[in-house]
Amino acid sequence: MVKNIAVIRGDGIGPEIVNQAIRVLDKIAELYGHTFNYTDVDMGGCAIDKYGDPLPESELKKCTDSDSVLLGAVGGDKWNDVPGHMRPEKGLLRLRAGMGVYSNNRPAKIWPQLADASPLKKSIVDQGIDFIIVRELIGGIYFGEHKTEDIDGKPTATDILTYNTEEIERIGRIGFETARKRGKRLCSVEKSNVLDSSRLWKKVMHKLASEYPDVELSDMLVDNCAMQIVKNPAQFDVVVTENMFGDILSDEASMITGSIGMIPSSSLGATTCGLYEPIHGSAPDIAGKDVANPIGTILSAAMMLRFSFDMADEADAIENAVSAYLDKGYRTADIMSEGMTQVGCSKCGDIILECLIKE
Ligand code: NAD
Repeated sequence: MVKNIAVIRGDGIGPEIVNQAIRVLDKIAELYGHTFNYTDVDMGGCAIDKYGDPLPESELKKCTDSDSVLLGAVGGDKWNDVPGHMRPEKGLLRLRAGMGVYSNNRPAKIWPQLADASPLKKSIVDQGIDFIIVRELIGGIYFGEHKTEDIDGKPTATDILTYNTEEIERIGRIGFETARKRGKRLCSVEKSNVLDSSRLWKKVMHKLASEYPDVELSDMLVDNCAMQIVKNPAQFDVVVTENMFGDILSDEASMITGSIGMIPSSSLGATTCGLYEPIHGSAPDIAGKDVANPIGTILSAAMMLRFSFDMADEADAIENAVSAYLDKGYRTADIMSEGMTQVGCSKCGDIILECLIKE
C-alpha cells in the first residue's frame, strides 16, 4: 500500500520523538512491503518564526491533502508572550478544526511492566486500569468567543462555551460505538448541576442510548469523575465528555498509568484521515537532550496504521515491539526504576527497531 503522511515535528522535543516514530514506520514499510511518503509541515512556534503564523493555509492544506497526519508537539516559552491569536497552540486548534477531527480518543491503559510507575496504591493498580476517554475536540469553550474588555474600569475576560445537539450527538455516537467494541459500558461526564450546555449534553446522550440497548450508559459529574479516576479507575470502560473536561481528565488518566510520555492519541472525524499525536506537550525542559520518551509518538504511529490505514497486523507488530523493549528492562528517564537500564530517546528507538518483527 502507498500512503502519504503529513509530518509535523513542531517544537521542543517534537523533532526528536517524531524522528523515532518515522524510523519505526520505515521498518514497517520494509517488513510489510508498503510505501510511506512523508511531507514536512511547519506548525507551532517554528511556523511563527518562519511565516509569522502558527499554521499558514498552505501548511494546513498539506495536512488535509494527506492520508493522515503525525504530530510531535508544539509550543514553548519563547512564544509565551505573543498575542493569543498567534500562539503555537492556535495552530493546533486550527489544524483540528481544518481537518474536521471532532473526536479525540485517548487510551488510559497500564502496561504490566510499568505497574510500579503508577502513583496510585498497588491495591488500586492491581484491579486493572484500561479505559478510553473520548473527548469532543472542536467545540465548546476552546472554540467559543474569547474577549478581554474594560467593564466598570476593570479588565474583564469572557470565554463562551457553546454546544449544539448535532455536535453532541456525533461525539456521543463515537462514545457508544467505542463502548460497543469494548466492555459495553459508557460513562457520560458533564456538569449538569450547573451548566446549560451540560444539561443539553446529558439529554442528547440519553436520547442516543435508546439506539444502543447493548451499551450501559451512566452519568457522572466532572468533579466526581476527577476523584473516581484516582479512587477506582477499574470502574471505567469508555468515558465520553466535552472538550475542556476531556482535556483535563485525560491528563489525569495518563498520570495514573505511569508516564505522560507513553500515551498515544487519535483524532478522527467523518473520514479516515486522522491526526495522531502523543498526549504530552513539547517538554521544553528536556528538549534537545535526547532523553525524551518517544513511545507515545511511536504508539500514535501504530494507531494511525490501525485506524486510518487498516493495517492491524502492522500496528500489533509495533505494540509488541514496545512491549518487548519494556520486557528487556529498558527505560527512558521518565519511567526509570531500580534495576532497569536507562536509555535516551534515540537508543529507545534503536531497541524498539531491533524488537520489531513481522507478526
Ligand atoms: P508537557 O507535556 O510538555 O510537559 C510536562 C512534563 O512532562 C515535563 O516535565 C516534561 O519534561 C514531561 N514530559 C512530557 N513529555 C515527555 C516525554 N515524551 N518524555 C519524557 N518526559 C516528558 O507540558 P507543559 O510543560 O505544560 O507544556 C510545555 C509546552 O507544550 C507548552 O508550550 C504547552 O503549551 C505545550 N503543549 C503542547 C501540546 C501539543 O502540542 N499537543 C500539548 C500540551 C502542551
